[in-house]
Amino acid sequence: MSTFNPMAEPYKIKMVEPVKITTREFRQNAAKEAGYNTFLLRSEDVYIDLLTDSGTNAMSENQWAGIMLGDEAYAGSKNYYHLEDAMKECYGYKHLVPTHQGRGAEQLVSKALISPGQWVPGNMYFTTTREHQELAGGQFVDVIVDAAHDPLDESPFKGNVDLNKFEKVIKEQGAKNIAYITIGVTVNLAGGQPVSMQNIREVSELAHKNGIKVILDATRAMENAYFIKVREKGYAAKSIKEICHEMCGYTDGATCSGKKDFHTNIGGFAACNDDDFATHMRSNVVVYEGLQTYGGMAGRDMEAMARGMLEACDDVCMRHRVAQSEYLWNLLDKAGIPLVRPCGGHGVFIDARAFYPQIPQEQYTAQKLANDIYEYCGVRSMERGIVSAGRDKVTGHEHKPKLETIRLTIPRRVYTQSHFDVVAEGIIELYKDRDKMKGLKMVYEPKALRFFQARFEKL
Ligand SMILES: *Cc1c(COP(=O)(O)O)cnc(C)c1O
Repeated sequence: MSTFNPMAEPYKIKMVEPVKITTREFRQNAAKEAGYNTFLLRSEDVYIDLLTDSGTNAMSENQWAGIMLGDEAYAGSKNYYHLEDAMKECYGYKHLVPTHQGRGAEQLVSKALISPGQWVPGNMYFTTTREHQELAGGQFVDVIVDAAHDPLDESPFKGNVDLNKFEKVIKEQGAKNIAYITIGVTVNLAGGQPVSMQNIREVSELAHKNGIKVILDATRAMENAYFIKVREKGYAAKSIKEICHEMCGYTDGATCSGKKDFHTNIGGFAACNDDDFATHMRSNVVVYEGLQTYGGMAGRDMEAMARGMLEACDDVCMRHRVAQSEYLWNLLDKAGIPLVRPCGGHGVFIDARAFYPQIPQEQYTAQKLANDIYEYCGVRSMERGIVSAGRDKVTGHEHKPKLETIRLTIPRRVYTQSHFDVVAEGIIELYKDRDKMKGLKMVYEPKALRFFQARFEKL
């Protein structure tokens, strides 16, 4: 890699999308109408949209050119074969099962591998992943290292699985009562924290010794590979593609959202090596997604994803991506804003408890912070705390995660340095007014994945 400034864009801009600049009064009304839930805002009322990096990325000219080459045949589209080749080149699994997005793949894997009552350990839950595991009758159990729950811990691989916790689950529940273990790389809800190669290798050894399958949530595997390259001894000279291959080689299969690493707006896939596992997923993909050669995607979308996959595992592209997160992180950190440390891959996470110590978690601390940031500066972020964590399916009690955060997620290739300056200025202004703020009460609560549609009132 060259020593070129990593913040300098490795692309230039060919097309622009105008955004609306609004007043604080306008945003206060919009927030009220949205029930103080940033998911319910209209996107046109948002100035800088850092809700998610999912499907919000800018495609390259090469990807747009691919859109024009969609083979929309119902069966055997040539774009499917391009996607299969790209997946094998980047990850190395034998079988590809395309899906409309990541959660489609999660449903296929959960249905194939979980018998009701079985346990599914994982390195911190992810919302849709856990939902599908529970719908298939499984019970999620968190086996991430303790450091992941501590926003101030500076360990380089806070996404790691705690091998002792995993071993304890095996001993207590018995290996046959464990459906599989999921390793998320990077760990979204822990702040985009990576998992080391050493940890993936050791988890794989322990799991396989006990006859337990390992499933990778490969949604941000290329970002994880970048962190392994720069933080783990022995990988500096390896390419992201080589590192991805090694990570995947320790696992039995993967689910992947195509809306993140690949700069695409839609798509996903499941992948595996075992023929029977693939057959099972293919028999379900035709019921829930679409034929096994399109899985809910148009041919053109598969082409854009195939091209995006090959582009994204470029070292310079990934270094720029992470540099944008680090730039915003540094601006906020210098101003004393409490952040999840160290900076992760796909965004900056603010520790809402430390930002608003006067607002208890039961009054939705992070939800309120996400709302206030929108009211102050028109920037949309996402709650990743008690609202996202939902309720225990058995007891009905709210899960109370240790991390009560908001996520400022960086879409790939979309915003510039001055946008990040505006975000930081707005949040710093709010931080000065933090003592004035009170919490929220929930006035509408959906049963599943409540954070998407819940509504609130100000206390
Ligand atoms: C986005 C995401 C998913 C789900 O993928 P969708 O494409 O949104 O269905 C799964 N796991 C992780 C870590 C994600 O970030």
